[in-house]
Amino acid sequence: MNNFQYTRVNSQAAALTELSKNPAAKLVAGGTNLIDLMKYGVMAPDKLVDISKLGFNEIKKENSALHIGATVSNSVASENADVLKYQPLLSQAMLMGASPQLRNRATMGGNLLQRTRCVYFYDTAAPCNKREPGSGCSALEGFNRMHAVFGASNSCIAVNPSDMNVALVALDAVIMVSGPKGNRTIPMGEFHRLPGSHPELDTTLDRKEIITGIMIPDNNFAKNTTYLKVRDRTSYAFALISVAVAIELDGSTIKDIRLAMGGVAHKPWRLTAAEDMLKGKEASVANFKLAAELAMEGAKAYEHNAFKLKLAPNTMVQALKTASGIKA
Ligand SMILES: Cc1cc2nc3c(=O)[nH]c(=O)nc-3n(C[C@H](O)[C@H](O)[C@H](O)COP(=O)(O)OP(=O)(O)OC[C@H]3O[C@@H](n4cnc5c(N)ncnc54)[C@H](O)[C@@H]3O)c2cc1C
Ligand code: SF4
Repeated sequence: MNNFQYTRVNSQAAALTELSKNPAAKLVAGGTNLIDLMKYGVMAPDKLVDISKLGFNEIKKENSALHIGATVSNSVASENADVLKYQPLLSQAMLMGASPQLRNRATMGGNLLQRTRCVYFYDTAAPCNKREPGSGCSALEGFNRMHAVFGASNSCIAVNPSDMNVALVALDAVIMVSGPKGNRTIPMGEFHRLPGSHPELDTTLDRKEIITGIMIPDNNFAKNTTYLKVRDRTSYAFALISVAVAIELDGSTIKDIRLAMGGVAHKPWRLTAAEDMLKGKEASVANFKLAAELAMEGAKAYEHNAFKLKLAPNTMVQALKTASGIKA
């Protein structure tokens, strides 16, 4: 590990100043991803700016939305009464992530920005365009079981590893950001990037900006939500496939619906075509199967992940059945 400086800041302005004056500085919140990456030699910031005591630690319901501060831990958010009441899908997704100990440290902002778990990204002896632009992508011809089936490029086929992000994109969350030019908001669907020819960039957040919180607009989904995650172990493992479903039912008719998948793309993957197809239809297994077929259009597998082309639609149908209360 390289030597680095450490400072703890007590104000947003101080954090922004640190980022502006030192291009090699990185914010650290829970440290559960960044410190690992530093130990592996994947990232080597000159300076860590600790924002864990900044005070972005409120969860409040106001102005027709739920607001969650960036340094709230995943544990606190997943157990919060307002999150459980108004946005249970978010809690369900977060509880499927990591382990209780990790969720105690992991923050909302850090979870949004956690980096891919592609093994070649962590292996500094292997070419990886995300870690070292222009060096090549070892996963393309390598072991690509965990990798993308949507939106990949010849530069990178990695997936976003977060569970929370899948729920947030389904819920049309908005990321609150502050930077040298002031405050701005980024819709969750535009926060993460596809790899294209710049896989080293995971998001549209500027290096000098800080995430201050997440806002989730009110909806009518609380009664019918499911986050279904398929993984190699039942705990402490990243998703092979995950599906977030939120439905507003009128009897057995789908009045409104949100669908997103994890483990399939460089960003949490919203399934808008399937949503549009299901709106106004009956909640039935036959319709769910048709929607799942539609959702998989354009999917492309690599040598070791063709199983995802079957697992993903099956997981989607099961998640839809669970969310809408269909037992058979
Ligand atoms: C063994 C293991 C298993 C895991 N399993 C899962 C899993 O199954 N599902 C899952 O979703 N996650 C999983 N995780 C990932 C875990 O959820 C993340 O490591 C965690 O959410 C990161 O949050 P943090 O606060 O610790 O981030 P940090 O490590 O502190 O920071 C991560 C990145 O975010 C940046 N950052 C942090 N806060 C801000 C902010 N407010 N503004 C701007 N930048 C910021 C940092 O600069 C850094 O680049 C696992 C992690 C481990 C170690
Ligand atoms: S898939 Fe992306 S992260 Fe993995 S080796 Fe290729 S470039 Fe690196």
